[in-house]
Amino acid sequence: MPQPSLKIDNARYAITVDRERRIIAGASILVEGGRVARVGKAAELAGARADRVIDARHLVVTPGFFNGHMHISYAHPVRGIFPDDLGSPLAHVFKLQMAMTEEEEYAASLLGIVELLKSGTVCFVDPGSTKFPDACLQAYEDSGIRVILGECVTDREAPFPLPRFATNEAISRTASFLEKWHGRLDGRLRAWAMPFSPESCSADLVRAMKRLADEHRTGLTLHHGSGPKARQEYQAQHGLSPTAYLESLGALGPNVVLAHALGIDDAEIDCIARTGTAVAMCPITAAKGARGIAEHGRMPELLARGVNVALGCDSPNNCNHLDLVRAMNMAAIQYKDARQDMRQIPAETALEMATLTGARALGLGDELGSIEPGKKADLVLFDIQRPEWQALWNPVSNLVYNADGRSVHTVIVDGRVVVDAYRQSFVDEASLFVKVQEIGERLQARTGVSFPRSRWPIV
Ligand SMILES: [Zn+2]
Repeated sequence: MPQPSLKIDNARYAITVDRERRIIAGASILVEGGRVARVGKAAELAGARADRVIDARHLVVTPGFFNGHMHISYAHPVRGIFPDDLGSPLAHVFKLQMAMTEEEEYAASLLGIVELLKSGTVCFVDPGSTKFPDACLQAYEDSGIRVILGECVTDREAPFPLPRFATNEAISRTASFLEKWHGRLDGRLRAWAMPFSPESCSADLVRAMKRLADEHRTGLTLHHGSGPKARQEYQAQHGLSPTAYLESLGALGPNVVLAHALGIDDAEIDCIARTGTAVAMCPITAAKGARGIAEHGRMPELLARGVNVALGCDSPNNCNHLDLVRAMNMAAIQYKDARQDMRQIPAETALEMATLTGARALGLGDELGSIEPGKKADLVLFDIQRPEWQALWNPVSNLVYNADGRSVHTVIVDGRVVVDAYRQSFVDEASLFVKVQEIGERLQARTGVSFPRSRWPIV
């Protein structure tokens, strides 16, 4: 049966992110066969008929959002348990993550997806957190979201419990993962190679991961950081900076996404730009984790060099929300403050990172990321009948500086309406919330990872 057609009629604005970056006032969009067939002024599309018409007079349309680094899995059931003065929670994080059962991970992932979709994210990269993709497949399928998955592998000792294998086993596991998963769900599911970090993986493993990504014409992502201390250590061990070390392994390139990438210096930026490597930055995690954007954040320089920078929300226990609109807001404001320069990261640039630039970073820019004829129809419709959207003169400014993901009204992925007037229909939210809370209780009891619940007495 052919997919029903859809017309978004007379939107107050469509922010297309097309080549000319047109913002069309009074815009209509015709979606046929899951793709944008036409986009233009409502009058131009007046004769266009569709199976379903959405009256968009009070809606602003944007392309769907891409979350380039988002650990789904363990965190939702225990979100908020880490006290502010804990320091690095990583040892606890991996203990909790390794303790998840199939059923628990499925429920937590489902909740994550509800939160992602309802705030406008149509595609996310899970950097290897999911332990049970077979169990979670149903959640991806039912929700209609796009997902980039991989199995986290390491072959070296790490300061926290990560999945560790013999080098050859890590390679063969990744090869079978790519073969099994890449391209499923009509191409909505992509599988990438996911070595955790260069510190936890041998040179041989990193090289082999990149080779597998190339052979399978897919991507690779890993955690990457630099800074004076790391540069010193890498210099002593390899005679290179952390980024130059990756380049020396042949592990950089357009199908590689470096996550976080804080603390890189000019030479490392040059290396990233020269090799066409992409970066996923998590502005809220960086701020909440006191990572020192003024000293270590180089987003403006990466963008100025034409690097495809995606935004990420990291984990629901770092960022803690999954709202790309808030991530855009943080990206647009934190560099202004850090550099004491209001020209840094304009609102338009923040929106580009969440849409077209983010899609390009994930290798999806030809098919997604903007509202143009021929591209896949992934769209977000914002409800402007809300106080935070008033008054409305510049919709990009309103979106990035006033609004957040809670004004997402309707979300379309591959031409299918997956959030319809604030509602999704793939899971009963009330019972899911109860289940996830119970999982959190069991998980803390089972692992012994728990903390005083609040600095204030809960009576
Ligand atoms: Zn991460």
